[in-house]
Amino acid sequence: MREHFFHSVAFIAFALLAPFSSVAASPAAPWTVGIRPARLVNGSPVLFRVTTPKSIRTLAGNWLGHDVTFSFDASGRVWFALAGVSQETKPGSYRLELHAETRAGEALSFEKTITVVGQRYPRVLLKVPGRYTAPSPEDQRQIAQDKEVKAETFKTITPDREWKGSFAPPVNAEISDIFGVERVFNGTVQSTHQGLDFRVPTGTEVAAVNSGRVILARALFFEGNCIVIDHGQGLLTLYLHLSKFLVKEGEDVSKGQAIGVSGGTGRATGPHLHLAVRWQGVYINPQVLLKMKLP
Ligand SMILES: [Zn+2]
Repeated sequence: MREHFFHSVAFIAFALLAPFSSVAASPAAPWTVGIRPARLVNGSPVLFRVTTPKSIRTLAGNWLGHDVTFSFDASGRVWFALAGVSQETKPGSYRLELHAETRAGEALSFEKTITVVGQRYPRVLLKVPGRYTAPSPEDQRQIAQDKEVKAETFKTITPDREWKGSFAPPVNAEISDIFGVERVFNGTVQSTHQGLDFRVPTGTEVAAVNSGRVILARALFFEGNCIVIDHGQGLLTLYLHLSKFLVKEGEDVSKGQAIGVSGGTGRATGPHLHLAVRWQGVYINPQVLLKMKLP
């Protein structure tokens, strides 16, 4: 009896409040913005999933100062884009700005505040051959040359999406070192580990993690034999320390295709595969990307 009374009061209160809240809201369906991973940290990739109040023709966004291009997933009736958060991004609230155009040419916009939680990354000491921490004048010339090659390569931002579906691991092996570790080489040179290491001996075939185009396949001083694939939407993947190339620059590759053979070339403590992911100029955690279920 008593319980029934409370339910009735609650119902009446809800019925009274409901008309006021619906006056404040727009009569159209609301925008929705889904974020994966739900708990977003610095150094992570992020998948945005957006539904709009009206049927739209295009959707573009801005996130942490980067332009974001969305694709439409017809089966899920949702717009999606992969983006990232740099490791240097401070914990806090950031705005995702969205701009859409309806089929009738009407401009719609929306903002969503997204929280980035701070992640601490560990620190380790490593030993490598001396030339990698005290390079000779000749090595320094190559390092300077490589820097230009990399800057040119990393400028590539293809708005159109080449990747499709979830990303697949490049090798079937255990992980020997994670993303974001602060490393000190030979007690002198500090560098952040901006990729994910797989424990593979020399001679293991390395596969493209998703489809795209090979924009770099050459020997660099620190990276060793290095391949860079452009997956579109500003997303690049890098494969380091290879012993052999199986693809050439300019070649289109599909997910799972063998692109090279693992090795220990460049600044490596031993043979392994270093996989890195870049999104519009920042390195993001490959391990999180490999776990994401993508359309
Ligand atoms: Zn590595």
